[in-house]
Amino acid sequence: MSTPRVGVLALQGDTREHLAALHEAGAEASTVRRLGELDAVDALVIPGGESTAMSHLLREFELLEPLRARLAEGMPAYGSCAGMILLASEILDAGVAGRAAVPLSGIDMTVRRNAFGRQVDSFEEELTFGGIAGPVHAVFIRAPWVERVGDEVEVLARAGEHIVAVRQGRRLATSFHPEMTGDRRVHRLFVDMVTGRA
Ligand code: GLN
Repeated sequence: MSTPRVGVLALQGDTREHLAALHEAGAEASTVRRLGELDAVDALVIPGGESTAMSHLLREFELLEPLRARLAEGMPAYGSCAGMILLASEILDAGVAGRAAVPLSGIDMTVRRNAFGRQVDSFEEELTFGGIAGPVHAVFIRAPWVERVGDEVEVLARAGEHIVAVRQGRRLATSFHPEMTGDRRVHRLFVDMVTGRA
């Protein structure tokens, strides 16, 4: 697979930035809003935005169960911020009943929604990131953190004591938004995970 087809879930959130980042990282990037579009991609990015709204729209667009099924079959996936929340196997502070964010169980982890947001709405920090040489400039916006990881999950980055980037097999998640900075190293890492190079 030289040029992987990577979809960006485009129900809500910062879809455009991910499409541009994936394209620059060497993937064929396309939006995913319906089942046929999900079926056509090798991997999926779930963007930043609002995880409760995306959960609602996944149901409305009848994508929730098909997406869970693709993940259960092993489709590679990357989630940033709201996308990290959705990829979790358990979500804390998921939102009010009936409107809560739903876990897709792509990564064996417990994520707390709006965790940093309770302290400060947004901030930026230079992070050490496993597998990437040199600091990564990270933008956090009402960001989650990871409170528990399973044995098969590798912690790639922390902000202070809090886990903010993880990998499990061909699944990647970050609390922050690399799509917003112009630095394509995180997207390149994901594309390399999809093709099996990383
Ligand atoms: N707080 C948002 C949520 O719960 C995530 C914020 C973001 O994606 N920047 O989904």
